[in-house]
Amino acid sequence: MRGTRIATFALACLATGALISAQTAGPAPGESLSQSYRGSQARNVEYQKIAPFKVMDNVYYVGPGTVSVWLVPTSAGLILIDTAQEPYVDTVIDNIRKVGFDPKNIKYILLTHGHLDHFGGATKIKALSGARVALTETDWNFMATQQANQIKNGRGPKPGDEVPAKDMVIKEGDTITLGDTKIKVYVLPGHTPGSPAYEFTAFDKGKGYKAFVFGGPGPRNGVEGGTEFLQSIERLEKNFTDVQVALNVHSYLNSYPYPNNMGILELRDVKAKNPNGPNPFINNALWRQWLKDAHAGAVKYIAEEKAKAQKGQTN
Ligand SMILES: [Zn+2]
Repeated sequence: MRGTRIATFALACLATGALISAQTAGPAPGESLSQSYRGSQARNVEYQKIAPFKVMDNVYYVGPGTVSVWLVPTSAGLILIDTAQEPYVDTVIDNIRKVGFDPKNIKYILLTHGHLDHFGGATKIKALSGARVALTETDWNFMATQQANQIKNGRGPKPGDEVPAKDMVIKEGDTITLGDTKIKVYVLPGHTPGSPAYEFTAFDKGKGYKAFVFGGPGPRNGVEGGTEFLQSIERLEKNFTDVQVALNVHSYLNSYPYPNNMGILELRDVKAKNPNGPNPFINNALWRQWLKDAHAGAVKYIAEEKAKAQKGQTN
């Protein structure tokens, strides 16, 4: 009896401690708010569980602080872009309810690329809703190969981290239609070998704007990945300079942070302070500046990776 009481007391203290640390925690000196979710507070689970918020008439942010999950309601059900991973999948599901929608009505889960922090919740949310899970053939294979390698090395995925069963394959030029909403698919590799990007019309007070989700906004995988990434950026600079609403896959990007520290959570706060003013998420200049920064960064990344490769050869 006494043991139980002490254990209960200890648990209550732990829970209170977690609550206090979540409430009092904040960005470290020199960090922006969005950055703190990928920086000093990356492992603070309670801190990550942020309230969902409306971005456009038909776009809601329902993810934890570190990784975006975009909810796009249509006249015939819901589209979810990315899922986050454990321990945040229930938070995502609850957040969908909090903004007034039934997660069972999700018809499509569109993944932005085959990294765990984006696909981890797909199996659970598909089980709940029966949604189709969509990704490019290349990234379906990329996910499967990564998981097979993990298993081979004796580090199988933790429960909830499993790669979703292969479902819908999307490719460049596809259009996903659900009710009144059409989402165009592009493939912009470099972060992963087959990162898709999604374009659709987002509305603000009934007026349409070009919204864009760039699935892989940072280079990986040395000279090869860096070169692919630079080609993707050049394609965006040629054909997509008119993006008005950049729905980024993280509130803060490690590779090329958003200009003027205007990450997603900063934009959220600007909007909350002036709800009847212009919507800060509609910002073509921010997108174009980010493209410039990403271009310069990609050139530098490739040069550094080439130097590393050469050094490796002469050693
Ligand atoms: Zn990634």
